[in-house]
Parts: sequence; C-alpha cells; structure tokens
Amino acid sequence: MTALDLNFALPSHVTDLAARVKTFVQEQVIPYEKDPRWTSHGPTDELRRELNALAARAGVLAPHAPEEFGGAGLSHIGRAAVFTAAGYSMLGPIALHCAAPDEGNIHMLDVIANPEQRQRYLKPLATGVVRSCFCMTEPAPGAGSDPGQMQTTARRDGNEWVIDGDKWLITGAEGAAFAIIMAKVVGGEGDGGATMFLADLPNPAIRIERTLDTMDSSFVGGHAVVRIDNLRLPADAVLGEVGQGFRHAQVRLAPARLTHCMRWLGSAIRAHEIATDYARRRTAFGKPLGSHEGVSFMLADNAMDIHTAQLTIWHAAWVLDKGERGGTESSMAKVVCSEAVARVADRSLQILGGLGITRDTVVERFYRDVRAFRIYDGPSEVHRWALGRRIVQGQAG
Ligand SMILES: Cc1cc2nc3c(=O)[nH]c(=O)nc-3n(C[C@H](O)[C@H](O)[C@H](O)COP(=O)(O)OP(=O)(O)OC[C@H]3O[C@@H](n4cnc5c(N)ncnc54)[C@H](O)[C@@H]3O)c2cc1C
Repeated sequence: MTALDLNFALPSHVTDLAARVKTFVQEQVIPYEKDPRWTSHGPTDELRRELNALAARAGVLAPHAPEEFGGAGLSHIGRAAVFTAAGYSMLGPIALHCAAPDEGNIHMLDVIANPEQRQRYLKPLATGVVRSCFCMTEPAPGAGSDPGQMQTTARRDGNEWVIDGDKWLITGAEGAAFAIIMAKVVGGEGDGGATMFLADLPNPAIRIERTLDTMDSSFVGGHAVVRIDNLRLPADAVLGEVGQGFRHAQVRLAPARLTHCMRWLGSAIRAHEIATDYARRRTAFGKPLGSHEGVSFMLADNAMDIHTAQLTIWHAAWVLDKGERGGTESSMAKVVCSEAVARVADRSLQILGGLGITRDTVVERFYRDVRAFRIYDGPSEVHRWALGRRIVQGQAG
C-alpha cells in the first residue's frame, strides 16, 4: 500500500444518505432517549418497532441490507459514514436496524447462506421484520476469547443433527426469531471442526435461562444465558460447510467489529459536543471552563482520539472495499477505536462535573455502555496478542 492509493471519497448518494440519517437521528430518535421502554436490558421490541417504522418512513431503514432486499448497496466506507451518523444516538442503530448482532448476521448470511436460507432467514432479517442472535460464547471452561475451547457439540443422528451445550452473553436471544449456533462436530464428517447451524426460535430445546444484569443497556433483548438441550435440526440447517464454522465466522467478525467502531464513534462525537458546549457556557474562577487549560486539553485530546478513530476506521473499510480480508486492519481499528472512544467518554463526563454522572445528559449512559466494547468481538489483549504474534513471525506489515 502506498499513500497515493488512499481514497476515502464517497459517492454523493452516500453522503446524501448520511446527511439524512444525521437529521433523522437528531430530530426523530433523540426525543426517544428518555422513553421508559429503553430498559436496563435494552430497548424493548415495542420501542424498536416504533423506531423502525419512523426510519422506514424517513427512507433510512436498513441501508446496509443487500440491494435485492431494499438496501442502498453501501460499501464499507459508505457504512462508515452512515453508521457513524446513526450512532450519534445509541438508539440510532436500533432505529435503522443496523445494530449488533443483526447487522453482522445480515452480512454473514448474505455471503454464506444458500438460496433457500436467503429467503427464509436473510430476507425477513434484512428487511427488519425479525431479529436474530449469534450463539458462540460459552461459560468457562468453554469458548470465550479462545473459540477453540468450544464445548457445545453437534452429532449426526440419521438425517438430523443433535446439538447440546451452554451459551452465554448471547445478545438479543430474548425475542429473536432465529439463532445462529456454533457447535463442535463429534464423529463422522467434519469431526472436531466447528459448524454453524440455523435454528428457529422459540424452540423448547433452546431455553433462555436468564437475561443477565449488565452495565450496558443499548442492545435490544439484553444478553442471555442459553441452554441447548437435545436440539434436533435437519441436515439443511447447516450454515455454510460442515467443519468450516470458524472460517465462515471470520466473514462476520472483521466487518462486524469495524461497524461497532463506526457506531460508537458517532456516540463519542455526541459526548464530545455535549462536553464542548458545557465548557463554553459554564464558568469557574472568572472564566469559561474551556478557557482553563486543563479542560481545553481534555477537549483537544477528545478531538485527536475522534480523528484517529475516524481515520483508522476509514482505512480498514477501504482495505475491505478493495476485497481484502482486512483482518489485521480491522483488528487494529477495533483496539484503537474501543480505547479511544472510552477515553472520550471518560473525559467528556469529567468536563461535565457533577452533571456528568447524572442522566440529564446521555454521556453517563455512553460511559457505561461503551465499556463492554473493549471486551466483545475480541478483548483488546487478544487483538494485541494476535497482532504481536504476527509481527514476531514476520506476517504483519
Ligand atoms: C456486551 C457483550 C455482548 C456480547 N454478545 C455476544 C453474542 O451476541 N454472542 C456471543 O457469542 N458472544 C457475545 N459476547 C461474548 C464475547 O464475545 C466474549 O465476552 C469475548 O469473546 C471474551 O470472552 P470471555 O468473556 O469468555 O473472556 P475470557 O476468555 O474469560 O477472557 C478474559 C480476559 O482475559 C484476557 N485474555 C484472554 N486471552 C488473552 C490473551 N491471549 N492474551 C492476553 N490476555 C488475554 C482478556 O483481558 C480478557 O478480557 C458478548 C460480550 C459482551 C461483553
């Protein structure tokens, strides 16, 4: 790559769409931020549907969907512009139906699903009719940072697969219309390999044991503990190829971790704006807060973190748009952005003083919610460890 190759230019239909999303979020979504249906387990489905209807009326629902299902044919850079505009309110991605895990599942199904699965699962998901969940993580000693520790099993019984295991931290399982379940094959074809399965919900063999009480609250349905007990699925429930589950999941993971960065960047920009406005208006010791170097330096650091996060996202998106896997770039972007936006949240809250810890501004919720971003889609340490290993082995540029 040379600097001359870089081109983050967007076509006008994408800049128009991003501008419309920005206006939509500011005028129609932000008023919902105090709605009691935004609970500690996330926005309710009723609230989600209401917001989706508003987005559909404004012509901004699911712009990332495949074009055959009404999407806007967005490139990864295009997504960066639109998702960042949506993230200006944490309810924005819910309204546009571009929040996790659905957005990542739409992308993965678009790439992997067979024609029948496209119609049955992708179409209703992409058009916002239903929600979905992605079941990979397990309680210790199962799959976590190391998916290779997968304990959930899938064994063949005649024409059926039988799946057993425990999953947890499964976002949106409560209320989802289907689950994508990752399990390890035992015996027969694909023995020892991971495989993904599509399972309709609700299903008596997939029990939601509880919704976890967590410090974050921006995902519809919250995060669930799920017990899979003697789940029997037909052979055509396999998503992709038997034994290729981890390889297929990579299709989801690199872009999905980048879209998290895009959405959270929008929230960081909002928090910085709120802090800036306060620093201009509020006085202390005879002058506005922003005239004190201690505060202006925090604003300057916010601006630099936002700028760095933005450029890192654009670069990784540009690499993906060139058709490359972008694993290293999206991994670096995930660490850079998750840590940068957390710093922005912390500084913005500090600048607001006592107001910062109240729910009179969204900064308090952003501060709490963004913390988990350094853990999901790979903890910072795992990305650093993997990158460091590639550097030592001479495989990273
Ligand atoms: C809000 C939220 C939503 C989630 N949604 C989903 C979902 O929808 N579906 C799903 O399947 N999962 C989901 N997860 C789970 C998420 O993917 C896991 O939390 C993540 O993979 C880490 O696994 P773990 O929690 O088991 O941490 P562990 O594997 O127990 O790791 C704990 C810590 O150990 C450290 N560590 C681990 N490996 C290394 C290493 N090699 N070097 C240095 N340090 C290391 C890291 O600091 C890490 O945070 C979600 C998690 C959160 C927090």
